[in-house]
Amino acid sequence: MKRLPLYLWACPNTLVGLAWALLARATGGGWSIHTGVIEAHGGWVKPILERLPFVRGGAMAITIGHVVLAQTRAALDVTRTHERVHVKQYERWGPLFTPAYVLAGAWQWARGNDPYRDNPFEVEAYSESG
Ligand SMILES: [Zn+2]
Repeated sequence: MKRLPLYLWACPNTLVGLAWALLARATGGGWSIHTGVIEAHGGWVKPILERLPFVRGGAMAITIGHVVLAQTRAALDVTRTHERVHVKQYERWGPLFTPAYVLAGAWQWARGNDPYRDNPFEVEAYSESG
């Protein structure tokens, strides 16, 4: 129950992630709960992640609140440590996470840097996940 406020704070994002997880599940993908996070993969979410803008080659996975969406089940395993850093970021920033993430990426882009790789949220996730 100590974590309930964190789930509530991230809830607006989680609801969006849940809609995507439902889409994955309804279109042939799968889902499960792993360490308090809904993990969904496949279905129509896979081609969307493959074409995600600003990420060269698309994304293997993406975190939206307490939901992680991945192209495949194997991608969930490979990206779990990285995506859990994003879950913690959602717990810290709550509804402000998405605008903060977009602004941080735009700021890096405006400075001539990579909006994804140089985004401080990604820098933190990559530094903690190796
Ligand atoms: Zn990331």
